[in-house]
Amino acid sequence: MSDDRRELLALVTATRARLEWCRETGIDVLAATRADVPAEIVSSPESPAAAIVPPSTTTDPPSARIRDDVEVDFLTHPGVRESRSLPDLRAVIGDCQRCKLAPHRTKLVFGVGNPNADLVFVGEAPGQDEDLRGEPFVGRAGQLLTEIIVKGMKIRREDVYIANIIKCRPPNNRDPEPDEIAACEPFLKHQLELIKPKAIVTLGKFAAQCLLKTRTPITRLRGEWTQYQGIPLMPTFHPAYLLRNPADKRLVWRDIQLVMSALGLR
Ligand code: URA
Repeated sequence: MSDDRRELLALVTATRARLEWCRETGIDVLAATRADVPAEIVSSPESPAAAIVPPSTTTDPPSARIRDDVEVDFLTHPGVRESRSLPDLRAVIGDCQRCKLAPHRTKLVFGVGNPNADLVFVGEAPGQDEDLRGEPFVGRAGQLLTEIIVKGMKIRREDVYIANIIKCRPPNNRDPEPDEIAACEPFLKHQLELIKPKAIVTLGKFAAQCLLKTRTPITRLRGEWTQYQGIPLMPTFHPAYLLRNPADKRLVWRDIQLVMSALGLR
């Protein structure tokens, strides 16, 4: 092994140890400063670490500075990007304690379906039924989603992949909070990198706004193709919303038909 590789390995090992320590002591957001990083790393544009070092002092909170950085999980989520399969990734996530939802959950809801699916559905967060079963979309909203897939699209639920923005149930089904999303999003991002679907359908305002990093209302987003990391993405309404507003099922059906056409399903 060359000296450079040995040095890099030592740096990675030390960083992992430090992050483990941070996790154990409850620190879940790190701010990189020039003083923390050796000069040669700061000045190397190829270095993943360089990507999180701000060019100058900023008053943004650390979480705002690093959240959208593509390299963020290199340091805060060791092992995630090295996972070569969904089971590998699940093992890396382990008995996750990376955010404050951990003590409230019964089961972590990783995702379910075909690891080579052409189509991935992304919802918001597990509800009570999902938390108990460890599987996404198995409650009433899940039954409606399954009907859309099986009766509407005429494919099996097992043929698609289903996941959520976050993997643990928020107490009383409240909206996920920014630190929880920041802790969990690298996992979904890597799931999508591994699955490489031909299309993503986001369900509801939350999933669309979170993946697309926008505050545009779902009523304006739905029904229009956009992209996430180069993958065509169709935002549509959440099945739980449809249970309350059945008249809007026809809009979702329209969105789903666009997806079916794009995938050559009709
Ligand atoms: N709602 C979601 O967004 N996801 C689930 O898994 C269940 C309900």
